Amino acid sequence: MGIRQTDVIVVGGGPTGLVLASELALGGVAVLVVERLAERSGQSKALNLQPRTAEVFDLRGLLERTRKYALGNWGSGHFGGRPLSYEGWQTRHPYQVAIPQAGVERALEERLAEQGVPVLRGHDLVGFTQHDTGVTATVRTAAGESEIHARYLVGCDGGRSTVRKLLGVGFPGTDASQFAFVADVVFGVLPAAVPTRMRSVQDAIARERTAREKTGRRGTGGLIPLGEQGLFRLVFNDPDARAGDQATPVSEDEVKAAIRGLYGEDGEIAEVRWASRFSNATRQVDRYRVDRVLLAGDAAHIHFPAGGQGLNLGVQDAMNLGWKLAATVRGHAPTGLLDTYHAERHPVGARVVDNTRAQTLPTDPDPETRAMHGLITELARLPEANRYLAGMVSGLDIRYPVDGQDHPLLGARLPDLELPTHWTSTLFHPGHGVLLTTDPRHLATAGPWSDRVHAVAVADLPLPATAVLARPDGYTCWLALPETPHLSATDQLETALQTWFGPENP
Ligand SMILES: Cc1cc2nc3c(=O)[nH]c(=O)nc-3n(C[C@H](O)[C@H](O)[C@H](O)COP(=O)(O)OP(=O)(O)OC[C@H]3O[C@@H](n4cnc5c(N)ncnc54)[C@H](O)[C@@H]3O)c2cc1C
Repeated sequence: MGIRQTDVIVVGGGPTGLVLASELALGGVAVLVVERLAERSGQSKALNLQPRTAEVFDLRGLLERTRKYALGNWGSGHFGGRPLSYEGWQTRHPYQVAIPQAGVERALEERLAEQGVPVLRGHDLVGFTQHDTGVTATVRTAAGESEIHARYLVGCDGGRSTVRKLLGVGFPGTDASQFAFVADVVFGVLPAAVPTRMRSVQDAIARERTAREKTGRRGTGGLIPLGEQGLFRLVFNDPDARAGDQATPVSEDEVKAAIRGLYGEDGEIAEVRWASRFSNATRQVDRYRVDRVLLAGDAAHIHFPAGGQGLNLGVQDAMNLGWKLAATVRGHAPTGLLDTYHAERHPVGARVVDNTRAQTLPTDPDPETRAMHGLITELARLPEANRYLAGMVSGLDIRYPVDGQDHPLLGARLPDLELPTHWTSTLFHPGHGVLLTTDPRHLATAGPWSDRVHAVAVADLPLPATAVLARPDGYTCWLALPETPHLSATDQLETALQTWFGPENP
């Protein structure tokens, strides 16, 4: 029986676990990933990065690397099929990066290899025990069981999370009532009605075209081109499916009938590469942390993949947790910092859970629900409502409450600002906090935190503030306003540095 020792065990090598492991390594702690699958499946559930995920990848210099595997950009998002514009959000990425999940995972694994983080494949976590100073995990491999000791363990092991089940936390929510499937299909002959170029997800959304008696199917969905000749992703929401069907594999006949129903008779399928069922079962854990074990990504929340949010939500969980857990392990975290992970991320997860519910109002509804659909469609066309929904689905509107000042920028993401020689996103690459100030005297104040905060004096700050302090995940935690006197700004800055980054270096 082999025994290993590390600071943090990340369970699960999906997008959430890979981002978290990278963040922990950047924060200077020893981390390893245990992943049940012996090899990556190459299959992709998600197909997009939302604008906020593109931004946080930029914060780590990861976006360009990830683009190698992208299919392009989709200029808009959607809310239950209604188009959303990201233009009102002061972002350099007012679009979705169209990229299969497998490409995101490849890019992240490349980064982890450069960071020297082990990803132990074929390692299935089957148990763990917590004690005062750490966690002992039991993993099963082809060679038998072994133990790994760590100070913390994070379950990023997906919707059926073993860690969550062993932890025994509550996972309240609702069972499935709507059912769908995905299938990656190679066409010999493409139905004429299928769009071969997509500018947005709406281009792919089709409705049943033929009578039910003819195809045997009703439903909504669409075909999304996946970049390879003839290869398309079919997503099909089937109002006739029942819970009992969920364990049955998706048959080729089902796939063909769905495509005929949506696009007509004239296509010819050469191959169905893989297919999988999913549903609107919706749940969220009531605690993201129990002592030394934490949960992130689908392990903490499941919902219908409406609007393309799940992967993105998991990446944001990881970005929120990584620097806090690294600071905790390294011993310089201020009291309570790790608990802000649950405090900040549970409400964000709950909001996504709710908005996916709102996006899955029955598609075959009673007159009242049909009227509600119509009303939401009308409202979503109003610029301010559209901006609101776009901010919610993209993650651009996230704000983490900060005590004290009340300003719309405080607790919000710091937009990527163009400074004379660089974009502010590049300052975040080492994973430190960032202080931007028009008052050079603040550099001396921040000096004792220089191992954790990168302080930069600028002539102008294109913000309604004269100085701003941002956390490693890019959210602001202190502002000096033009009217703030120098002495009180200095006091406030010192307090903010202590609150978010811990005691100053002696
Ligand atoms: C049909 C469909 C379409 C979707 N489309 C989108 C989309 O367009 N945009 C979007 O943002 N999201 C989308 N999602 C959601 C997205 O795929 C998930 O939210 C995302 O995969 C979550 O990432 P994760 O890393 O938390 O979990 P996962 O991707 O599930 O990764 C968990 C990993 O843990 C491993 N594991 C599990 N148990 C163990 C164990 N005991 N020991 C070791 N390893 C273990 C698994 O093998 C897996 O590799 C979609 C989901 C579905 C079903």
